[in-house]
Amino acid sequence: MNDFGMNDFGTSHSGTNDRRTGGAGDGDGGRRAARRDEAVRAAVEQGLLGPDTPIVGLLDVTGIRDSAAALRAAFDAVTAPGTPVLHAFAVKATPLVPVLRLLHEAGIGAEVASPGELALARAAGITPDRTVLDSPAKTPADLREALARGIAVNADNPQELHRIDALVRSASTRSPIGIRVNPQVGGGSIGATSTATATSKFGVALRDEGAREWVIRACVNRPWLTRLHAHTGSQGIPLSLMARGVAETYDLAEEINRRVGHRQIDTIDIGGGLPVNFGSEETSPTYAEYARSLAGAVPGLFDGRYGLVTEFGRSLLAKHGTVVARVEYAKRSGGRPIAVTHAGVQVATRTVYAPGSWPLRIAAYDAKGLPKSGPVTVQDIAGPACFSGDLLAEGRSLPLLEQGDYAAALDTGAYYFAHHYAYNSLLRPGIHGFTSAAPEGVRFAVVRKPQTIDEIVEESGGEHARGLLGL
Ligand SMILES: *Cc1c(COP(=O)(O)O)cnc(C)c1O
Repeated sequence: MNDFGMNDFGTSHSGTNDRRTGGAGDGDGGRRAARRDEAVRAAVEQGLLGPDTPIVGLLDVTGIRDSAAALRAAFDAVTAPGTPVLHAFAVKATPLVPVLRLLHEAGIGAEVASPGELALARAAGITPDRTVLDSPAKTPADLREALARGIAVNADNPQELHRIDALVRSASTRSPIGIRVNPQVGGGSIGATSTATATSKFGVALRDEGAREWVIRACVNRPWLTRLHAHTGSQGIPLSLMARGVAETYDLAEEINRRVGHRQIDTIDIGGGLPVNFGSEETSPTYAEYARSLAGAVPGLFDGRYGLVTEFGRSLLAKHGTVVARVEYAKRSGGRPIAVTHAGVQVATRTVYAPGSWPLRIAAYDAKGLPKSGPVTVQDIAGPACFSGDLLAEGRSLPLLEQGDYAAALDTGAYYFAHHYAYNSLLRPGIHGFTSAAPEGVRFAVVRKPQTIDEIVEESGGEHARGLLGL
């Protein structure tokens, strides 16, 4: 396991086996694995999964509630009593209205980065005062709507601030407004999710010549600029680097407030980015560890003088989602066993295109949805798409998957099945939330219905079938 909680996923590791051999099998992770096993079996028994519904997404509602509570408790433990704290879920991680609603009931707001995400948050009943708009490409209409509704906005760059100037002059707004900064503290192990590199596209790059002074003057000249925002990375960033990004943002807020002579910057938005352990069942790092590390690195941030906004995405949802796919065929090629399943690039796009950065654990279940045991075999778990790289996992040691079994891609609750990729016009699978309690056992609720073939045709220009002929 490296610093970032990623296993190398060599052939010595496999999904289900590490939990049975102890280690990660205890506590929180062990209970989550047990709930998942129960849900997979119930999904088969209750007909959510089967020959005619060969792929489904499952969401562990108990786990999501637990993570939301853990997030709140972690920051409650390090902030002075009475500190305003808004935990805004990064909607892009799991853009599903019932999930946003569940989080809302658990005291979590929304961070949105597009008109679509804002609409989802509104459909979930999340109020403007619990919503934050960040996006590197807000149109004038996006900004006007956010300010009219009183949604917090973080300006990404001087041109955007200029647009906001005009809007603030022409109408009053309740929106808290901030500037997104890039502390340029460096990247992590995955380039595509490193937001605080020297040349990142996000925010005002503080170490560029004149940039820091520009931010300070922008605030001195605009009494309504009351926030600073930094999101220093996602998966692959070590906690120490994240803490440094927050510390630099805090130092800038202190400097601005000294220059203006009062506490104009009253809230710091520390972004999200807590990495997720995709290598085993364990939740690591935890929110409590991160909050303690921040409190150690930046004590002044928690003494009650600043309100806080957080924007966690992946760490709230990833470990609570599972894609379960039927093994349509089990074959051999060049001596290698290959399970051809219904989960591939359409639900695990990052993993399929960048398997080195985004490996997923796979668990093997039999045709009744029971965990498979027995000797392990090195095998490939392939998806249904028509290109040879469509592999969920390559060379993985698992009990041999046979026709009619199920392969489960674990930790896929964020940035996976909610991020469907339309390759081969494969259907978006249905998603079901589940809980379990005696005596009735596992209960499911629809989060998203499976896409239909008619919808595929419609979304692919079906009503314009003759559209090109008249040109
Ligand atoms: C993506 C993003 C987040 C969430 O990142 P996670 O790694 O999912 O926690 C938060 N804030 C901003 C601005 C983002 O772009």
